[in-house]
Amino acid sequence: MHIRDFEIDQLPPAEKQSVWLDIAPRADGGNWRLPLLTVIGAEEGPTLLVLAGVHGDEYEGIAAIPQIFRAINPEDLRGRLLMAPICNMPAYEALQRSSPIDGLNLARVFPGDADATITRQIAFWLTRKLLSHADFLIDLHTGGIAYEIPTLIGYLHDSGELGRASQAAAAAFGAPIMWGHPLPLPPGRSISAATSMGIPSLYTEAPGGAGCAPDVVECFRDGVINVMKHLGMISGSLRQRRLTHHLVGDGNLDTVIDAPIDGFFQREVSLLERVTKSQRLGAILDPTGLELAPVKADQDGALIMLRGLPPVQAGDGIAHITQLYQSDN
Ligand SMILES: [Zn+2]
Repeated sequence: MHIRDFEIDQLPPAEKQSVWLDIAPRADGGNWRLPLLTVIGAEEGPTLLVLAGVHGDEYEGIAAIPQIFRAINPEDLRGRLLMAPICNMPAYEALQRSSPIDGLNLARVFPGDADATITRQIAFWLTRKLLSHADFLIDLHTGGIAYEIPTLIGYLHDSGELGRASQAAAAAFGAPIMWGHPLPLPPGRSISAATSMGIPSLYTEAPGGAGCAPDVVECFRDGVINVMKHLGMISGSLRQRRLTHHLVGDGNLDTVIDAPIDGFFQREVSLLERVTKSQRLGAILDPTGLELAPVKADQDGALIMLRGLPPVQAGDGIAHITQLYQSDN
């Protein structure tokens, strides 16, 4: 079935289904398809949309979704659970973050365009057929092959209705780190599309590095199920990790400390380390070990992202610093 013909409202109550929806023809025959797992509850309730594989090299969310699917019994569910475990199939097959077909990053083109290239088409259909029916969105990311980020739940840090709903759900998710982002969110993300549609959202990050860490898969699985309990979709107590850090800052990993020159990045700091402005974070070396350029902190704060893949080209993101949350009390 082409995704344009798919209607969530026609799915029967009290049933689980897994379907493959066609999005666009492949050059080698067949179609690019979206796998979709749905659990429709026996009773009415909220619709939760969970996405993974928006970037093709981020694996823990892809692994967590089938575990969540198996754990949820439609007879016990109030509402609808919609989960797309691999949103960007071209990037996933190519083992890379962005699409090998049009070079686009799916997390920069929401809400998409049905008449453009494949990545924008995927964003369009995710928005039109899934997100527009959702009461809440969780987008499961990790650092992928290149970036190290601690396991965290990202939320909208704002005193308005959407921000309050997002922060409360982030606390329920139960990741070791909460990272709040003030408005406006950078454009093109699933969560920025959700925000503009009035839908509260969360996203995750995790260390990445091309593997699929079981502890991160468990954290994501428990976290989504915790949010379902928080939203009243299922009953039961929460299984949370102890909160170690609550951070707030711009979450735009497109505007970070960049490599000043091509070379080999050698770090001198660790994730979550507190650093001060102009402190050395590491250096770019040539193959003989000669230092070509230092890499320095652009502000005081805590290191939330470090490049894990040492070879860099000028302009690649290397590090990002954010702030510790200062509560009012
Ligand atoms: Zn990602």
